[in-house]
Amino acid sequence: MSKFIGYRCSVCDAAYDPDEVTYTCPRDGGNLDVILDYAAIMNYSVDELVLGDEPSLWRYLPLLPVPDPGGHSTPLRAAGWTPVFSPVPLAKKLGLRHLWIKDESSNPTASFKDRASAVLIARARQIGAEIIVTASTGNAGAALAGMAAAAGHKAVIFAPKTAPPAKIAQLQIFGAKVLLVDGNYDAAFDLSVQAAQEFGWYCRNTGYNPFTAEGKKTAAFEIWEQMIRDWRLDVGCSSSNIQCPISIFVSVGDGNIISGLHKGFRDLLELGLIENMPRLFGVQSDESAAIANAFDACTEEIKPVSATTRADSISVDLPRDGLRALRAATQTGGAYITVPDSEIIAAIGELGKVGVFAEPAGAASYAGLVKAVDDGLIGPEDPVVVINTGSGLKDVSAAMLAAGEAPVIEPSLDALRKLLWGSSRKKGVRRGRSPLRTPFFRANPFDG
Ligand SMILES: *Cc1c(COP(=O)(O)O)cnc(C)c1O
Ligand SMILES: [Zn+2]
Repeated sequence: MSKFIGYRCSVCDAAYDPDEVTYTCPRDGGNLDVILDYAAIMNYSVDELVLGDEPSLWRYLPLLPVPDPGGHSTPLRAAGWTPVFSPVPLAKKLGLRHLWIKDESSNPTASFKDRASAVLIARARQIGAEIIVTASTGNAGAALAGMAAAAGHKAVIFAPKTAPPAKIAQLQIFGAKVLLVDGNYDAAFDLSVQAAQEFGWYCRNTGYNPFTAEGKKTAAFEIWEQMIRDWRLDVGCSSSNIQCPISIFVSVGDGNIISGLHKGFRDLLELGLIENMPRLFGVQSDESAAIANAFDACTEEIKPVSATTRADSISVDLPRDGLRALRAATQTGGAYITVPDSEIIAAIGELGKVGVFAEPAGAASYAGLVKAVDDGLIGPEDPVVVINTGSGLKDVSAAMLAAGEAPVIEPSLDALRKLLWGSSRKKGVRRGRSPLRTPFFRANPFDG
């Protein structure tokens, strides 16, 4: 079945046929929503819409606007279907009954961006585009480079030269043509759009190509499958009487992840698979808060900022998907929350304590939840999903800021005893308390 029937502009509401436009609205530059033939999709049962034995985002192929891209047994088929954890110590600390972390670091190139790039590759195959170009703070490029390598496509990446080394290494290793721009992400963005126009390359840019949000919406489908349906069973809610919709926390830069999630839940609502929209909470750094500023000012006019946050993946002057990202919160009863970088770094440590390793932008969502609980935006009964959007291995120097230095010792038991008990006397050790009660084990760099 061909479900992709056109586009609709998020600014002027104009409708376009599938082959009438490629990127944004020709009238006003607005982002385009992909429109599916919901009436036709409605004829299918849930079992036909979700390919239950496909452990990747391709399980939702019937709900995507692209044909099957092939590439079996390659990383292209491994994006999505990421794990969900129930971190009891963090839930207790925050006083929440239901808290889940959806961990996107397990994607093939270790960030949420693989979802967009996988679907983009499928679209490129469909329209016969050989060379795909993108601007990226690092992760979108790594995802495109990795998925392109898996599928045998050429990728050209423009990244700011200040991108973390691990991300640049990934781009290079995947064999992309990498150009480090002597400027910020916004400069790289403009250059990549010009290059695509000049040379006829297919442009993947976030908040520009309508298909990225279609890839990102698959996380909403997973949250629905992994949490909303199960949670109903867990707490015995009848489907017609969900008292508290689920609240989802995600960090926001360009705003394409949050608008992709919104699109996914709108699809589910349209198809009658959910009754309530989840509340979407966007989290930005104080030092890159263009969309949050508009939210606070109750306006849809998004003014650029001069972004300086340490969380490079959400460091954006002018969000390219700002309007839809803003509406993702205003139309779902969610909110925008800003946090200082110091709290983002602290959140890396908090998530680490339950075995989740996040890069700064990945941990920002948790920092936002902590603030929302403090401010009373989230209460004890609200079920909450926090998304970790990227792996801590992407930015090791930020992790070191959160973790502090490890002590160096001489390779002797005496030295170790001294470190544990503050003394090397054997007698004291034998009569001493359990090692677990020593300052060594009790000290926790993230407490207090
Ligand atoms: C890209 C990215 C984000 C932000 O996504 P936007 O669509 O730009 O809002 C957040 N976290 C990580 C790790 C990212 O790579
Ligand atoms: Zn328009």
